[in-house]
Amino acid sequence: MTIPKLLVLGTGGTIAGAARSATGKSYGAGEVAIESILADIAKLGLEVELEPRTIARIGSQDIGWKEWDALHAAIADAQSDDSITGVIVTHGTDTAEETAYLLDLTLAAGKPVVLVGAMRPADAVGADGMRNFANAVRVASDADAGERGVMVVMGDTVFAASDVRKAATSNVDAFRGFPRGPIARVTPSSLDWFAPAHRVNTDARYPWPETLPRVAILTAGAGMDEKPVEALLGIGCKGIVIAGMGQGNAPRTVLGALEAAVQSGVPVVRSARVDEGMVDRNVEVDDDARGFVAARALGPAKARILLMVLIASGITDAASIQAAFDRP
Ligand code: ASP
Repeated sequence: MTIPKLLVLGTGGTIAGAARSATGKSYGAGEVAIESILADIAKLGLEVELEPRTIARIGSQDIGWKEWDALHAAIADAQSDDSITGVIVTHGTDTAEETAYLLDLTLAAGKPVVLVGAMRPADAVGADGMRNFANAVRVASDADAGERGVMVVMGDTVFAASDVRKAATSNVDAFRGFPRGPIARVTPSSLDWFAPAHRVNTDARYPWPETLPRVAILTAGAGMDEKPVEALLGIGCKGIVIAGMGQGNAPRTVLGALEAAVQSGVPVVRSARVDEGMVDRNVEVDDDARGFVAARALGPAKARILLMVLIASGITDAASIQAAFDRP
């Protein structure tokens, strides 16, 4: 039997975090080098060859274009390298859903690509990183893991990039999926897929952009007025995602300002500040009349990623944007 070879791209996060105290509260994300994480993993005796590469050593709250561009290039190369079975990206949990979804939209769904993180630093009591990493190895080297696009492995659970979101600030079991829940359960010794591969189109859905436009998320709040929308237009936002109340609602004055944004050529997507659920067209807001797009199943963070990719691909009219959100 040939041993699978996985490319491991380190970006930092709590999985590479050091607290220097098993019980301390504060820690630095990304302080542990990927080579040192793999040296610990080697002690588990997994039947796999791991090839480390450092992309960054940061908390994922600081991730952006530079790291995404490097990740995309490295994974695209690995996809055409016959010696590589799959790719693991070690990543902070704060923005794992954004990186996973951006890569999922812009990469072919061939070899498995798995983002993995941890909620506790590597030297904390009950650290979850080693187990999560061992689980990620199992997923990325599994024969049935291909053509599922980018996945996130956390807490013995596998999520698809388009579903996953961080739902808790500190529990080890911090991730949820919507509209699908987990697509598999994984432990270091088992892997159970719940359904066949879900990516219908296995080609990259959008080209990798040369840059990403400024798109802001604005959270609606009771009693808010139109000024925050005007401020976003004033700094040159190319798109706005409103994280609205309930099914993407916002005060009348805010909707008026957003409609003016659409008329000035800035697409507006209505998503929900609520934890989960669909945002459908024309429920309490007349999207047809105002020219808005309904985010459907995507929460604000992923809606922003999709809107950035669409605008970067030259897709800026409401009907075409809506079509993309209808089939994320
Ligand atoms: N702030 C950290 C990060 O996203 C949190 C974590 O990794 O759990 O990098």
